[in-house]
Amino acid sequence: MPQRKKCIAVVEDNPDNMLLVRIMLADRYTLREFTTGEGAYSGILRQPPDLILMDITLPDTDGVSVMQRLRQHAQAAEIPMVALTAHAMRGDREHLLAAGFDFYIAKPVVDARVLQDAVAQYLEVGLPAQ
Ligand code: MN
Repeated sequence: MPQRKKCIAVVEDNPDNMLLVRIMLADRYTLREFTTGEGAYSGILRQPPDLILMDITLPDTDGVSVMQRLRQHAQAAEIPMVALTAHAMRGDREHLLAAGFDFYIAKPVVDARVLQDAVAQYLEVGLPAQ
């Protein structure tokens, strides 16, 4: 039975990083790409995806505040949100998880499977292994 591809909102202002995410995920999922925090905020509320990959440093605002504002809306409160960030300082992981992200992936994503496995964890839990 054909199934709708799961939809991932990717919030990333760096074209090279966006391209990497596209290469790693676009064959399995429908991607909706946003390059600003405000664009992501309104677009995600209008049409909630199944998962969000959120850059932290964005041109207009930061990914933490976008995530927290989204959480205040019923249609986005339960969406898995993964921080995808070059903030790889000691303590950043704990900070981002405490702020409300479900998961954290450090950039640059060198190994595609790190990203693919994390996404699959949230989107395909319960499906038989292929
Ligand atoms: Mn950025």
